[in-house]
Amino acid sequence: MRIQALGCSGGIARGLRTTAMLVDEHIVIDAGTGLGDLPLDALRRIEHVFLTHAHLDHIAGLPLFVDSTQGRQGRTPVTVHARTETIAALRRHIFNDVIWPDFSRIEGRYGPLLVYQPIRAGEVVDLEVCRVGAVDVAHTVPALGYWVSDGRHTFGFSGDTRTNDSLWSELNAQASLDALIVEVSFPNEQRRLADVAGHYCPATLGADLERLRHDPRIWVTAMKPGEEQVILRQLQRALPHRRLAMLQTGQVLSL
Ligand SMILES: [Zn+2]
Repeated sequence: MRIQALGCSGGIARGLRTTAMLVDEHIVIDAGTGLGDLPLDALRRIEHVFLTHAHLDHIAGLPLFVDSTQGRQGRTPVTVHARTETIAALRRHIFNDVIWPDFSRIEGRYGPLLVYQPIRAGEVVDLEVCRVGAVDVAHTVPALGYWVSDGRHTFGFSGDTRTNDSLWSELNAQASLDALIVEVSFPNEQRRLADVAGHYCPATLGADLERLRHDPRIWVTAMKPGEEQVILRQLQRALPHRRLAMLQTGQVLSL
């Protein structure tokens, strides 16, 4: 399995993009600003978008991406898999014929350009190349994390979350876990803000990781720009026995 971190920052600036993870060729998890770094032909190969939640840093690339897929020929529509609450937010606030056209009602050559597919925590979507499982997490809006398995390798993706039980019990239930991409947005000095905003800081993530029975490579993401090194140092101090690194924009993980 190949995972390309098109965006993995908590904000934008030169070289920084918000969350979007390309899995092999046809799947992307979250559609932040990093999605726009793909060449057009690669964008047009994406068939499935799995969204963790409706916050802008996770969907900012979606409206223009769907527009860019109009040249697809002989392909199925882009399917957006997300919680019903996330789909409702997209319909109401983004694809509402004001901010951007409602592409679920615009017919391309082979059907609508965009199809919404609700997904619930605990559900597993079987695709040709892999299975994607949705997991409950705890954020300020309804949100999901995901695990993805090709039968040989498995990785987990937290999306945005504060401390919670569901993600860790679901990851522990997997036969193996090769990689974990997990958010940690704020340094410990801003722990209160992290809790209120539904995010991890190194102290809370460190405590939750103690419960993980697997020993995956851990890639931390979504750090606030400028705070990356502080957060990473705090996390390494909290978890000296874990294999931790900061995910970089454009980085490719091969499992
Ligand atoms: Zn969020």
